[in-house]
Amino acid sequence: MLKKLTRFYHPKTIEEACLHLGNKEHKTALIAGGTSEVLRNDNNIEALVDLSKIKELCYIRQDSAYIHIGAGTPVQDIYKSKDLKGPSGELLKAAAGKIGSTLLRNSITAAGNLAGLFPWSDLPPVYMALNAEVVCRKGKPKRTVPVQRLIDTRADKFLAEAEIISEIMIPIYGKGTGVHFAKFAKTSNDYAMISLAIRLTQKSGVIEQARVAVNAITATPTRCLEVENALIGKKGSAELFAEAANKASAGLTIRRDFRASSDYRKEVLGVMVRRGLQEAFDKAKK
Ligand SMILES: Cc1cc2nc3c(=O)[nH]c(=O)nc-3n(C[C@H](O)[C@H](O)[C@H](O)COP(=O)(O)OP(=O)(O)OC[C@H]3O[C@@H](n4cnc5c(N)ncnc54)[C@H](O)[C@@H]3O)c2cc1C
Repeated sequence: MLKKLTRFYHPKTIEEACLHLGNKEHKTALIAGGTSEVLRNDNNIEALVDLSKIKELCYIRQDSAYIHIGAGTPVQDIYKSKDLKGPSGELLKAAAGKIGSTLLRNSITAAGNLAGLFPWSDLPPVYMALNAEVVCRKGKPKRTVPVQRLIDTRADKFLAEAEIISEIMIPIYGKGTGVHFAKFAKTSNDYAMISLAIRLTQKSGVIEQARVAVNAITATPTRCLEVENALIGKKGSAELFAEAANKASAGLTIRRDFRASSDYRKEVLGVMVRRGLQEAFDKAKK
């Protein structure tokens, strides 16, 4: 609980937000959608910096190489965007639309879902499958880093003092690429037991690139490297996908809770990966 909270800042620019975050007089923290605030385990926070009034953090733009998503963009805007097209747009929209409820999606932000990394976060495996890059700003200076680095280190440890995520950059993939997203949950509003994001690129039926990333079944978003390696350079077929899917849980530490045992999740993951690979491949051939 925020028992020591005495200040609440609503900056209008990134630079102003970073100035507040860098103020050493108070123990300061950042919120975006604020949907995970109740889970924050720090009773010493005295000041909150709210990013939600910063217009320069809220956009979806596209150029010839990337989709640019402002850090503060609500995931509902991603889900409903008419501008997001192609395999990258399709994968982002599919995952964004499966996050919580409409009410929650209007608050949860593109970067909040990545920085406040939970097992049930649906966008991080998608960012990994699409090989996203993350733009971090500390006032004016900025750096761009692969999303994998941010996930491996976790945002709170990776970001420097007074540095924030300002944008997620998603590479655009063209013809020959197919994607798939699936979420396995007890109800449409419940947290995922398995989130799965797949991107395949094929040429003349031969798989050139494969990215298979999961979350929820693991504690943090993780790539299924054995599945990926089983596919590269091979001609896509139902047999190949079944063989690769058998390796889906290899090397993963599979979670269990009151929703389902790890054996059950493992069984379901294999089926999801087999079906997902086939679907992504079929789309890639169109
Ligand atoms: C009932 C419920 C159900 C949910 N269901 C799902 C679900 O099915 N799937 C799913 O993916 N998510 C779900 N969520 C959302 C998820 O649990 C997190 O609450 C959400 O992803 C956090 O996003 P936010 O924008 O609200 O970030 P906040 O809660 O505001 O912040 C989260 C963390 O990220 C940091 N942060 C935020 N933005 C930035 C930034 N730009 N730069 C640096 N650090 C930043 C904050 O400091 C904080 O530490 C659910 C949440 C609730 C309450």
